[in-house]
Amino acid sequence: ISQFLQPLTVLLRFIEQYQQGMAGFRRFVELMDTEPEIADKKGAIELKNVKGDIEFDNVTFSYDNKREVLSGINLKIKHGETVAIVGPSGAGKTTLLSLIPRFYEIDAGSIKIDGIDIRDVKLSSLRENIGIVQQDVFLFSGTIKENIAYGKLDASDEEIINAAKAANAHDFIMELKDGYDTYIGERGVKLSGGQKQRISIARMFLKNPPILILDEATSSLDNKSESIIQQSIENLSKNRTTLIIAHRLGTIRNAKRIIVLTENGIEEEGTHEELMKRKGVYYNLYNYQQENWTIE
Ligand code: ATP
Repeated sequence: ISQFLQPLTVLLRFIEQYQQGMAGFRRFVELMDTEPEIADKKGAIELKNVKGDIEFDNVTFSYDNKREVLSGINLKIKHGETVAIVGPSGAGKTTLLSLIPRFYEIDAGSIKIDGIDIRDVKLSSLRENIGIVQQDVFLFSGTIKENIAYGKLDASDEEIINAAKAANAHDFIMELKDGYDTYIGERGVKLSGGQKQRISIARMFLKNPPILILDEATSSLDNKSESIIQQSIENLSKNRTTLIIAHRLGTIRNAKRIIVLTENGIEEEGTHEELMKRKGVYYNLYNYQQENWTIE
């Protein structure tokens, strides 16, 4: 029996995480390989009434026990704060943020939420408190309503509509033939990239987590879509701790706090203006993108 139960437990846990909208973010994780080592410790507690303070204290991490992708990272984020993470490709931005839901175990240091080490809390309760909006939006074949309700399986119609409104998705949904009952996916209506993103933002309004991790899309949308999504994300990040991986620096010019991660660790920090004045890594990245990415 145990031989049979083991994979079943793994599968159930997988489905549970899937429902929490995590699966896409873990696209690079070999689930079967990494899952066994990350488990609740004995006496793990529930994370309750989360405010959303996050602290990285001297965090070191390596995927292969050889090359350290992150080393000695110190970072404090206050609840409700929005922080943009930028840096060259491969610097470890995605890795840094995937440590918060504990997709990987760190090698040294600690990560705390509201002062509690994330290794001391139940994985399920940790992940319930973290929402992830990833680049490749995961929508399944089904109605728009079902796809939004994915953020909260017992949501009422009213909650679903309110979430869609907050995500600036309600208007385009109402223009579709069957409104919220419109079938999307392989045999249904095709949505644009921006519309899909708004569905995934609506999901997050329903899930309503105190901590939000956003992996901004690398490819740009047209200007109008872009600004609608920017605005939905701004709405969503209100009253939550929000971490955004920004690939296009133009979209975060108004961020109050930008963290520049390079292979040397956190190299610079400040507002767009402060970082431009420094004429360091951010300044160079920004100018490079201005020259190379403008006609995308
Ligand atoms: P990008 O802007 O291109 O998304 P990034 O700053 O998010 O890059 P990461 O994706 O965190 O960088 O990658 C940091 C380093 O870790 C890279 O050298 C990458 O090759 C390596 N890496 C990422 N994921 C894994 C993995 N699952 N297993 C092994 N190495 C990995």
